[in-house]
Amino acid sequence: MSKKITVTDTVLRDAHQSLLATRMRTEDMLPICDKLDRVGYWSLEVWGGATFDSCVRFLKEDPWERLRQLKAALPNTRLQMLLRGQNLLGYRHYSDDVVKAFVAKAAVNGIDVFRIFDAMNDVRNLRVAIEAVKAAGKHAQGTIAYTTSPVHTTDAFVAQAKAMQAMGIDSIAIKDMAGLLTPYATFELVKALKSEVDLPVFIHSHDTAGLGAMCQLKAIEAGADHIDTAISSLAWGTSHPGTESMVAALKGSEFDTGLDLELIQEIGMYFHAVRKKYHQFESEFTGVDTRVQVNQVPGGMISNLANQLKEQGALNRMNEVLDEIPRVRADLGFPPLVTPTSQIVGTQAFFNVLAGERYKTITNEVKLYLQGRYGKAPGKVDEQLRKQAIGSEEVIDVRPADLLKPELARLREEIGSLAKSEEDVLTFAMFPDIGRKFLEEREAGTLKPEELLPMPSGQGAAPVGGEGVPTEFVVDVHGESYRVDITGVGVKGDGKRHFYLSIDGMPEEVVFEPLNEFVAGSGGKRKQAGAPGDVSTTMPGNIVDVLVKEGDTVKAGQAVLITEAMKMETEVQAPIAGKVKAVHVAKGDRVNPGEVLVEIEG
Ligand code: MN
Repeated sequence: MSKKITVTDTVLRDAHQSLLATRMRTEDMLPICDKLDRVGYWSLEVWGGATFDSCVRFLKEDPWERLRQLKAALPNTRLQMLLRGQNLLGYRHYSDDVVKAFVAKAAVNGIDVFRIFDAMNDVRNLRVAIEAVKAAGKHAQGTIAYTTSPVHTTDAFVAQAKAMQAMGIDSIAIKDMAGLLTPYATFELVKALKSEVDLPVFIHSHDTAGLGAMCQLKAIEAGADHIDTAISSLAWGTSHPGTESMVAALKGSEFDTGLDLELIQEIGMYFHAVRKKYHQFESEFTGVDTRVQVNQVPGGMISNLANQLKEQGALNRMNEVLDEIPRVRADLGFPPLVTPTSQIVGTQAFFNVLAGERYKTITNEVKLYLQGRYGKAPGKVDEQLRKQAIGSEEVIDVRPADLLKPELARLREEIGSLAKSEEDVLTFAMFPDIGRKFLEEREAGTLKPEELLPMPSGQGAAPVGGEGVPTEFVVDVHGESYRVDITGVGVKGDGKRHFYLSIDGMPEEVVFEPLNEFVAGSGGKRKQAGAPGDVSTTMPGNIVDVLVKEGDTVKAGQAVLITEAMKMETEVQAPIAGKVKAVHVAKGDRVNPGEVLVEIEG
């Protein structure tokens, strides 16, 4: 008896999200679609929260237009997306009317398969999205966000799968976003799911720790029906097992995928060339990293934290933060680390280490989490922490969205004539700030994608400098001469200027702090805090809200500002009681640690 294993290729979504900071442009997808469409994949994953965000934020592409173009170019292959349940593509829970409208529009524009997950694995947060997918006549895939903890047992995952089955899902995905699965744990979990739930099982496994392909093979032996892979030139490491490798591994066996290896290899060569174009977005650390098997921190989270620590000049504290993350996670009842819980846990751990005292600063998201606003925690939360964070405020035990009023009409009104379609309204709903900016720039005809850097010297670099501008210098340091050749320059997503240069032929990358940070502010750098009533922050970030004005009387500990860093909001409190003498910031300003933002006179 043979059983054909079906395949989803993630090259157009998760693969470049994992390896190239989600930067692949539609223009690099369309030319290969004809071949991709002939492979015979069960589906191609093309859409998700990060790809949508990146289109609007960096690439200045309309993500809905990308979807329509891909649909037209891939008429014979199902298109798949990753949906964060009630969070849709954003970081908060949306009201049910927005969830229904979003799913309906995604289906109309081309999505056939919706992989739906909740960061807490709270199935109540999946129900409305599942029902909306079924109402649109599409494939609803229920997802187990895989993690390990004392409460994440095989029985608990099977119970979750049964609950999702009762909601009408068509298949189950085991989503191992961090690369935590091991081959024998996979075997046990798949075996249990297949014997207790009568649905196809899909394995989505990242190869971060080098175990992805082994896990998939054991899953197949245990009865799994389907694997997620990535074209080999965008596979492995924090991405997925290579498509060609898995097709070759199963060829001729009872699990043969039946896919045309030669055709897939041609596609692999195409993306091999495409990857070079995005070299500036390659992570510094590529390859296998088994650390996740010890600290459970996903690779994407590590690089994000490293950037934040670098900004603070505190990269040497990385190990302390990595040690703190599992402790915060335990305090919060062991949520899986996936958007948005990975940001919530990671940022709180970061604050706990840098503030020199655990929970001295508690982010608003942790407070909401402890109120039950993201759903039910998988395990028990630390009650003492809960009390410290939210005092006597109410803890909810209903589905969080039950408390939300319909909001689509309000969103439509807020964005007004900038929205030319319901899709535009939804873009704004998903990403209020960057979505509005995108629609404004489109209206003004000023959309401009971020710059791509030429390859550094020796790898086909385009010349920089232009006519008459020197790009080669000889510098003298303590009597030794070095030849410096500037090969590329540009602004990366971190807002800093990156110079690519070679020193005596050795390639180097130099990063400069942005000049425009101070130009954009209101009249230069702010003075440094010194007085007891000076309000400042511990992290670089943006001002989300100013809660006081000049002349106000404030109590010590009263919130005066809300700042945002690493997508998490924090209240900044008055250090002393008194009168507000001056406010030096406005909504939207970028601020640095130590600057005086508000002055209070005691
Ligand atoms: Mn993934």
